[in-house]
Amino acid sequence: MDRISRPPARQGKPRRSASRLVTVLLLIVAGAACSTIDLRTLESEDGQPGGLAANAGGLVTPRQRAVAAAKWGLGRPPLAAPPPPAVKPALETPSGFFRGPGLIPAITRVPTTDNVVFLTIDDGTEKDPQFAAMARELGVPFSAFVTDSAIRDDYGYYRDLHAHGHAIHNHTLTHPQLTQLEPEDQHAQICGQQDILQHEFGTRPALFRPPFGDFDRDTLVIARECGVRVAPLWSEEAFPDRLEYRRGDRKLHPGDIILTHFNGPRQWGGSMTDMLRLVLRKVTEQGMALARLEDYV
Ligand SMILES: [Zn+2]
Repeated sequence: MDRISRPPARQGKPRRSASRLVTVLLLIVAGAACSTIDLRTLESEDGQPGGLAANAGGLVTPRQRAVAAAKWGLGRPPLAAPPPPAVKPALETPSGFFRGPGLIPAITRVPTTDNVVFLTIDDGTEKDPQFAAMARELGVPFSAFVTDSAIRDDYGYYRDLHAHGHAIHNHTLTHPQLTQLEPEDQHAQICGQQDILQHEFGTRPALFRPPFGDFDRDTLVIARECGVRVAPLWSEEAFPDRLEYRRGDRKLHPGDIILTHFNGPRQWGGSMTDMLRLVLRKVTEQGMALARLEDYV
């Protein structure tokens, strides 16, 4: 269900002008061809297990990273992320997005001068053990934004990722287009998934990503009511064969958030390990390291 390419044809409740504005702005951010528009041993302040940042730079040694890079077909090992910031940066909501008291911030990047970018992986349909092993052996941090209907057949796969330091965040119960829902139904989608993830993983997610990047003011209010702090969107989207840039300069910038999906050959003609190899090549050749989003947001 989650080969997100374009929002499906509108059905049901007529869209309000405000939500249409958000969609238009997102499309501008994402570009005309956009497809649419989540180990330290200690717990971090948001209750998610820490550690992958330390894993990337510490528990996985440079030698181990080099060996793993050769095993997984990378010419160069990924760069280790710098130490996380002592203070998380103040977030900047892009102009045109909803903002204000009572709304959580929606962001497409993190304001930082560190040469880091963040990998976020959505939905959850493909549960590839090779991908989990590759990320673990290379010390690669990423954050998962999961939909209950996509992962309920194998929560164990995600519990294993969580145990290895990958934060698991909220991407709704069934992946609807939230701006077509009444507020009470948005509430059920977001709070319902918060409750399930809290039950399954022992922590209430701090981050929420709306399906298709489509949200309205109600979404950001309701997400806050459900215990979410931030709604990260994205700056680039990764596939097994390409990285789609949202800026005209076709470069990664410090703090960019990369979106990809738990997809497999049936959805996009490649594997999760193909996707990660592509991402690591692009990130490393541009002098960037993948860092842990929860260390900055
Ligand atoms: Zn999705």
